[in-house]
Amino acid sequence: MSGLTMSDYASDGSRNGKKEALMNRLLSIKSKLEDNGVDGMLVSKRENFMYLSGFTGSFSYLVITANHSILITDGRYNEQAAQQAPFFEIVKYTKGINAELNEIIKKCGIRKLGFESLHLSYDKFLDLKEKLEVEELKPLKNVVESLRVVKDEEEINLIRTAVRIADEAFSHVLPYIKPGVSELEVAAGLEYFVKKRGGEGASFKTIVASGKRSSMAHGVASEKLIEDGDPVVLDFGAVYRGYCSDMTRTVFVGRKPCAKMEEIYNTVLTAQVEALKRARRGMTGKEIDSIAREIIKGAGYGDNFGHGLGHGVGLEIHEDPSVASSETAIEKGMVVTIEPGIYIEGFGGVRIEDMIVMGDDEPIVLTASPKDMIIL
Ligand code: ZN
Ligand code: ZN
Repeated sequence: MSGLTMSDYASDGSRNGKKEALMNRLLSIKSKLEDNGVDGMLVSKRENFMYLSGFTGSFSYLVITANHSILITDGRYNEQAAQQAPFFEIVKYTKGINAELNEIIKKCGIRKLGFESLHLSYDKFLDLKEKLEVEELKPLKNVVESLRVVKDEEEINLIRTAVRIADEAFSHVLPYIKPGVSELEVAAGLEYFVKKRGGEGASFKTIVASGKRSSMAHGVASEKLIEDGDPVVLDFGAVYRGYCSDMTRTVFVGRKPCAKMEEIYNTVLTAQVEALKRARRGMTGKEIDSIAREIIKGAGYGDNFGHGLGHGVGLEIHEDPSVASSETAIEKGMVVTIEPGIYIEGFGGVRIEDMIVMGDDEPIVLTASPKDMIIL
């Protein structure tokens, strides 16, 4: 579409924030075309077309130029696309996607078309290269992702809801964690509750790792039965209207853990709390990571913290910015996790994870579940 102006906003109050956000995102991507040496961009990655257009279907191509915003999808999604993507001209393809794209290319006068090289398959690229009538098909990386890195208010609100649902699921499931219950049952309890509270589902494969399995940083829930004395690492999240949450708590079943486990728990907790306390807007991911890493190293467990401190979360469960070895500064509006852990093979492990949004100066912690040791 052409001539985007404020008057394009609908007057229906509740949708206004969303529409304003969509308009701003579209204007931002349009302003990036020239810098990337293209006069049109083809967007095919789902999270990216969702972000730019509002359309939540499983398949679409967006073609964006300075004066046009076109959403191509198939017959299944006609009505949905028209409702969800107010600033896009909807094209239902009937003649095959390449013929449709060529018509659009002609209509919009596109000569250099950018595409998402991290997403488009090699075969699809060869197909487009052969069939599309453009001077140049230019591979582009992280163009939409670079916009997604700073969340707008609309996104932060959705993320807050996804975090709240996960917090509630955690308190809901605690009474079910007891000897004789399998890790999978606990995972099912979390996931059931997420849907009950309006979430679309789990934001990734739920981790419930009990006993010695807790030393596996990615111990997806198994048939193992929880035993008396087990530590249980619960790492899970919800998806709410496309946006993810991610949290981890480690709880203990039956009794207080042994002195070594208690020391590990307290070390992870101190590292996590200090990172939250000392992180500042503008610090790099690496600097924030090292706050927690130094504390864990100081306690003698440096070799047992084998992953980065955190990662960005949004439409994807893992996205930029990374809070590990990255030199990227964490700026206002970026949403990341802070999740130190200590893992000892054959013994067990502890991880504690919250989500934050960086504020004017300090992080705002989104996750609300308690972090003091829980003995069930
Ligand atoms: Zn997690
Ligand atoms: Zn995480």
